[in-house]
Amino acid sequence: MQERKQGIVIVSNRLPVTLEVAESGALHARPSAGGLVSALQSLPKRDNAWIGWTGSSIEPSAEARAALGAASLSSGFRMCPVFLSKEEISKFYLGFANEIVWPLFHDLQSRCNFDPSYWRAYQEVNAGFATQVLKMANTGDLVWIHDYQLMLVATHLRNAGMRNRLAYFHHIPFPSPDIFEKLPWGKQLLQGLLHHEVIGFQTDRDLQNFLSCYRKLLRGEVTAKGRLVELRCGGLHSVASAFPIGIDADAFETVAGGGAAGKRLAEIRETLGDCALILGVDRLDYTKGIIERLRAFEIFLEQHPGSHRKVTLVQVIVPSRSDVPKYQELKGEVERLVASINGRFTDLGWTPVQFMYRGLPHAELLAYYRAADVALVTPLKDGMNLVAKEFCACQLDRKGVLVLSKFAGAAQQLKAGALLVNPNDWQSVADSIAQALAMDAREKERRMKVLQRSVHKNNVSQWLDHISATVEMYSRTRAPEPRGELAAAVGF
Ligand code: UDP
Repeated sequence: MQERKQGIVIVSNRLPVTLEVAESGALHARPSAGGLVSALQSLPKRDNAWIGWTGSSIEPSAEARAALGAASLSSGFRMCPVFLSKEEISKFYLGFANEIVWPLFHDLQSRCNFDPSYWRAYQEVNAGFATQVLKMANTGDLVWIHDYQLMLVATHLRNAGMRNRLAYFHHIPFPSPDIFEKLPWGKQLLQGLLHHEVIGFQTDRDLQNFLSCYRKLLRGEVTAKGRLVELRCGGLHSVASAFPIGIDADAFETVAGGGAAGKRLAEIRETLGDCALILGVDRLDYTKGIIERLRAFEIFLEQHPGSHRKVTLVQVIVPSRSDVPKYQELKGEVERLVASINGRFTDLGWTPVQFMYRGLPHAELLAYYRAADVALVTPLKDGMNLVAKEFCACQLDRKGVLVLSKFAGAAQQLKAGALLVNPNDWQSVADSIAQALAMDAREKERRMKVLQRSVHKNNVSQWLDHISATVEMYSRTRAPEPRGELAAAVGF
């Protein structure tokens, strides 16, 4: 066991850095993008540890550990790497996580490949993560496990006799029973979740779906307790609830109003001239509805010739899972569609779709959020979608409109100020673009104030607060360990 004071052990599929070989040939740890990384940056910098995969097939070595050690110093987390072999990456990560759970939980079962060897790899890799937790965690640490790649870690920890408090947060949607039941190993996954004392979901939609699966497959007891639900099944006792994840809205607002973003904003405005800016920002993923959005924009251009030369869609796509053939195909499809729309509508001095296939520096991304007249956030289904919230926080001039998929978790909190759309209904998305562009300034400001109130109120510290309070309350009634470590560790 390593020498650490009590704190939180975060366990997620990926570390907040990716280990890679630099051009010089040396190993280095590059910070990674993503919702969880952004959210947990707000944890007070205490003696917290983060267990996760390095994001590559680089083998364990002193150099790899030194690169991660350097990243630990700058991130405030002690990085505890899990090294995966090529076969494990192929069967656990690309296989079980990305070819089964990800599409199934986003209601896209026709994309699933239920290969039984993937399931074996999932069990083995989850056992490997559990071994790392057993090495790292001290008595009294809260072990906070994240997301669908690691639904069996708690089973292995309890089988090994671990008594620490375990919490789980599910970042992606949870499907309804008719979809969940397609999964041959669904029962084991549900049982795995019940080994956590606290089980968190993004929205009430996901909580209710989970409860329906739990009732149908495990036939356990359910007792409502305010916004919590107590579960009792086969001697296990947990609470579940919806804890919608938030952002550090103040920090986004500050950076969006700062010098670097301001400079970039002026450049963006100058380049756009009189064109309104419609913005899309997504990781490359078929769940994000990028193709459907481009189709909708094409319909908008067809039906509104008066808008030509007056609007530009800037679509930022952050590369993701770029070694997976399905994602390479999606990139090709996006490129072909962008080329086809631009081929149809481009005119001297005006290109309707500008496509960037890269992550943007933080201040530049925030300058785009601030500059946008319309944000098109139209996933086919999404656990939450932080881009929607970040856009609102950065709209310092309140002249932008959020067009939001009703299937994004964020819609539950943002429906009062956004224009909600069904992303599969391209015509309605095209109509919403037109409505947003035609909206008068007072209406835009009114809606944006509602949205900003929501993202500031339901921010990331409130999310951490709710989860920590739930862990505290629950541990008072049943856990034998000393209490208060989570609150101390996260500073509440
Ligand atoms: N993001 C980023 N660089 C970019 C574009 C996006 O770091 O160039 C971040 C963005 O700020 C957000 C995250 O990527 O915090 C995307 O989170 P979201 O919940 O929208 O989707 P996810 O990718 O987690 O499915």
